[in-house]
Amino acid sequence: MKIPVLTYHSINVIRNTYAENDHLALASDLETINDLGFRVIPLSQVVDWHQGSLADQDVSRTVAITLDDGSWFDYYDLDHPTCGVQRSMINILRDFQLRSSRPVHATSFVISSPAARFSLDKSCMIGKDWWGDQWWPEAASSGLMDIECHSWDHVHPELDHVLQQDQIKGDFGQIKSLGDAGAQFARAGEYIGHVLAGKRPVLFAYPYGLASDYVINEYLPEYQSTHQFRAAFTTEPKALTKADNVWSLPRFVFGQDWKSPQGLAAILNRH
Ligand SMILES: [Zn+2]
Repeated sequence: MKIPVLTYHSINVIRNTYAENDHLALASDLETINDLGFRVIPLSQVVDWHQGSLADQDVSRTVAITLDDGSWFDYYDLDHPTCGVQRSMINILRDFQLRSSRPVHATSFVISSPAARFSLDKSCMIGKDWWGDQWWPEAASSGLMDIECHSWDHVHPELDHVLQQDQIKGDFGQIKSLGDAGAQFARAGEYIGHVLAGKRPVLFAYPYGLASDYVINEYLPEYQSTHQFRAAFTTEPKALTKADNVWSLPRFVFGQDWKSPQGLAAILNRH
């Protein structure tokens, strides 16, 4: 039994074509998933199955959908400066569910730090304050989307200061000390839990898709009562099996691992 986990980035809007727009890709891919006889289940259920609390038959021919970085494009329809109004990821899910009567779900992995998002909104988007967290509670109670954690600050190269002891940016594999991990995991989870009225995140997606041996083999297993996560995801491009380490679960990424509806069909038909 294998379950493909699919990843999109709603900020990726270059043109209004499948290959260059993660919104159009998601809308098309929901149809492909359905046409091939697969169901979308929440990522939390994939972890339940991995941990032995859901049976194989409950996850037969399923996929999970994840979204990284957590800008407003996940939740609000926005007027993109060159491509026009973009349907938000959650509204694409809602449209599909209304049309097909098939339940769908996505997990949004958000950057926790308000200051990091405020700064990245200016450097990576167009400075319209489209990276706030006011939508997290509504999304989390919608039944269509879970809010989970994508680190404190993504050790993003566009930030002046990141919570990495040597200021090494752009490589989450450089989080290798208790201090840095405590900030990127436990502090990040605490802030998201604060916004969600106490519901702390339990799933984590590594920025850039990877983590150090220290994080995978020491920090996450040994400090679980502090950080409260129960699984973490990479971007190793393979379907998830029970043999995978719970702190290193794989995901496919749109734009890297498939670029067309046929590419997605090929991934699904292998499982
Ligand atoms: Zn990211």
